[in-house]
Amino acid sequence: MVEALRAKGINDEAVLKAMEEVPRHWFIDSALDTFAYEDRALKINCDQTISHPSTVAMQSQLLNVQPGMKVLEIGTGSGYQAAILFKMGAKVFSVERQKGLFDKTRAMLAELGFRVRCFLGDGYQGLKEVNYGPYDRVIVTCGAREIPTALMQQLKVGGIMVIPLDDETGQEMLRITKEGEEREKWRVERFGAYSFVPMLDGRQMN
Ligand code: SAH
Repeated sequence: MVEALRAKGINDEAVLKAMEEVPRHWFIDSALDTFAYEDRALKINCDQTISHPSTVAMQSQLLNVQPGMKVLEIGTGSGYQAAILFKMGAKVFSVERQKGLFDKTRAMLAELGFRVRCFLGDGYQGLKEVNYGPYDRVIVTCGAREIPTALMQQLKVGGIMVIPLDDETGQEMLRITKEGEEREKWRVERFGAYSFVPMLDGRQMN
């Protein structure tokens, strides 16, 4: 898998090492084991998906995480992305809006020794009630219709957010560097087309 990732332009050695060390098949149903190391998204519980390995690698690389950094992830899902970031030395705070996934993934991450702090809630709002922020990095792993203001507020000045933002056909991967509090000081770089499950906001919570 790591060689395939290199061929796709992943050259951050810390990302490649973490992806080599965290077995992806731990995060999917055993019935899908044979596909665990292919570059494809797979179904997990609650009609959600674990992202392609190349997408996880690309988002991790764009995030430019250093050990000790506080990272806020929106969309815990299977927990795979969170586990990769933890393995890279980050302090990971992850929010999931579906209770079924939250319960299962939180228990599994703890059991496997990935000390990721998991929260149930609407990640569109970030982590408002519990104040662990501001964060060095924010990673959104569901497709957003707009840049969530609350998440930008919880990001440190100088911090980076990686987010797939909706366009006409799917999503475009953005990296936003917060060079100041005002919107004019958010530097946006674009990294091509991706496809994610939608980020749902509070009004659509079930
Ligand atoms: N990072 C995950 C990807 C999971 S798919 C992984 O490595 O497996 C995206 C996840 O985002 C889904 O689990 C979905 O339930 C969740 N999600 C969608 N909208 C959300 C929101 N507003 N807040 C928190 N999680 C959300």
